[in-house]
Amino acid sequence: MLKVARYAAQATHAGARVHREAPAQGRSEYQRDRDRIIHSTAFRRLEYKTQVFVNHEGDLFRTRLTHSLEVAQISRSIARQLHLDEDLTEAITLAHDLGHTPFGHAGQDALNACMKPYGGFEHNLQSLRVVDHLEQRYGGFDGLNLTFETREGILKHCSRKNALRLGAVAERFIKRRRPSLEAQLVNLSDELAYNNHDVDDGLRSGLVTMEQLTTVPIFRQHQTLALKDFPELNGRRLVHETVRRMISTLVSDLTRQSLANIRMHAPQSADDVRRLPLLIAFSPRIEKQQIELKQFLRINLYQHYRVARMSSKARRIIADLFNALLAEPKLLPPDFQARAREDKPRAIADYIAGMTDRYAMLEHRRLFAVEPV
Ligand code: MG
Repeated sequence: MLKVARYAAQATHAGARVHREAPAQGRSEYQRDRDRIIHSTAFRRLEYKTQVFVNHEGDLFRTRLTHSLEVAQISRSIARQLHLDEDLTEAITLAHDLGHTPFGHAGQDALNACMKPYGGFEHNLQSLRVVDHLEQRYGGFDGLNLTFETREGILKHCSRKNALRLGAVAERFIKRRRPSLEAQLVNLSDELAYNNHDVDDGLRSGLVTMEQLTTVPIFRQHQTLALKDFPELNGRRLVHETVRRMISTLVSDLTRQSLANIRMHAPQSADDVRRLPLLIAFSPRIEKQQIELKQFLRINLYQHYRVARMSSKARRIIADLFNALLAEPKLLPPDFQARAREDKPRAIADYIAGMTDRYAMLEHRRLFAVEPV
């Protein structure tokens, strides 16, 4: 088994699973969590769910699956340098987006609006719901029965009201404690990955241009470095040489700053970490540069009229599906009908949240198209 620092999560003392099981054989408890996530149905759905571009818009844009793999690559590299538990880091990473609706944030906002009178919808809570309740693979329990540390890492944020309802896994939101360093790391690796791959996807789509991006300091600096090494470079290769340098800078910065924070606070155990401030962090200078890049992406990519047009359509698709199913729950597949008898709006939200982009569009056509589908 890999040796980790004393401040890392300790697989040999992994927090209990809700349902008692025999100890994992030939792999650590966190490896077992990771393996269960990879074999889940929700994980395979990530292939056809998107963040910015809807699945049918092009084959080369990131999907939630490739995004999750990129985050796993980044978070594991850093975990190794910080002597954290790589398996736990990977498990949290691969599960972090499982609760996302189709159509990215537009889908989440639309489903949340539909669910307003019934307790709301939040993708982060939904990821936990997928691994705790919705996966149906085991004889003895619903969900994947993951360890405490993986579940805690999935639950990135949580309101006080929800925290009281969720119990131990959300206790830190009431006690104002921090999660494991592995969870903190996944959180920032997620941001690091999407900022960079959205630059790449944004350029590929033609919605943003290289000229626009050179107004963003962090991009300009790294493009200059790329051109210093390869003065003749242009086009896609220049994009890649720039983006890979940005990723390297961010990874090194995050590693360096986090190590300095760990040294300064000197946590002696994973429990100590929970009482300290967040230790995994970018340096203030890089943090500022990341905010500039994020602002650029928000204005020029996420709010681009072509993205807004698709988001608007996505909102209508989700709202139409929700309202039709709420009015006529007999349109739900049988297993969801059974659940709808207990809590109709929540069962519908679970059904819709589980849809891939293309499934949601197909279901919408089945319910609303006048021509035969
Ligand atoms: Mg993510």
